[in-house]
Amino acid sequence: MQMPPLKNLQQSILAGDRVALGQAITLIESQKSADREQAGNLLAKLLKHSGNSLRIGITGIPGVGKSTFIEALGSLITSQGKKLAVLAIDPSSPHSKGSILGDKTRMQKLATNADAFIRPSATGGNLGGVANTTMETILLCEAAGYDVIIVETVGVGQSEVAVKNMTDVFVLLMLAGAGDELQGIKRGIMEMADILVINKADGDNIKPTNLAKKVYENAIHLFTPRISDWLPPVLTCSSITGEGVELVWQKLNDFQSLLKDGDLFKENRNQQKKLWLEQTLASELLQLIKADEKVKALFPQLEQKVVTNKITPTQAVDEVMQEFFGDK
Ligand code: GDP
Repeated sequence: MQMPPLKNLQQSILAGDRVALGQAITLIESQKSADREQAGNLLAKLLKHSGNSLRIGITGIPGVGKSTFIEALGSLITSQGKKLAVLAIDPSSPHSKGSILGDKTRMQKLATNADAFIRPSATGGNLGGVANTTMETILLCEAAGYDVIIVETVGVGQSEVAVKNMTDVFVLLMLAGAGDELQGIKRGIMEMADILVINKADGDNIKPTNLAKKVYENAIHLFTPRISDWLPPVLTCSSITGEGVELVWQKLNDFQSLLKDGDLFKENRNQQKKLWLEQTLASELLQLIKADEKVKALFPQLEQKVVTNKITPTQAVDEVMQEFFGDK
């Protein structure tokens, strides 16, 4: 890839140049070791300019209206003079063909908004790799002056936890459904949410939405609040008419203020950085061990022994460690 020299890229990003930002993200998404080295150097230089944004995680099942909601919320945010970046976590699973979020028809309004930067998720990676790239992309966007970063998940699989671990506030989008409202939504995901929003509160759907709101509010009372003084609010909105979107933005700001009044905002980010370090160490170590020729030769036999109940995985790992580290 033909890239401008590192220094130029760095200065252009700090000046808010979107093309440079896009190029830098492509660099961190690259698998080539020369690109990765350059990306690492760039990030190291930009690190001290990062951190100054509100990072919002948004999840919800496919079809709940995430991209429509992000358009509505995003337009409101940029109308207040803020710059918004929208990123996505979409580890391509064997079940999905590439990036759902890469679909060009999504978020058309924001795509032409000069104060919004939309970047579909890198595809083809495992969740760990995609999460790492997204985390680095957040830092780049912050260095480029983006005030609000929205990280969206496709709402399937494990990506919610990854997004929760890289954002300050986590929003769950839901729908009013017939019958038991709590069916279909994993309790664990609800417990992760700081703000719950029932979308599509328009037309004939207003009444069921208000009923669902009561059911969810009752359910929330049974959870142990993650942060004392903050009972996750259950809001309703229509991403099409825009009704209720302003209140969601207000609650996002209220939550941020509450975190910042204490040390919670910083504490949460510090925890996330430690976790990121630990996960990076684990994944690098795993790669190193798996690439070792002696381990590679041994591994199929160990797998076979585990499959046939001759040894436990713990015993197999002991053998791998012995082979890799020897008497070190
Ligand atoms: P995503 O898969 O979660 O990103 O969902 P989309 O944003 O693509 O929305 C799925 C469908 O629901 C689209 O046809 C939208 O037009 C529609 N939709 C999204 N938000 C609303 C809403 O607030 N009200 C109504 N009536 N339809 C909506």
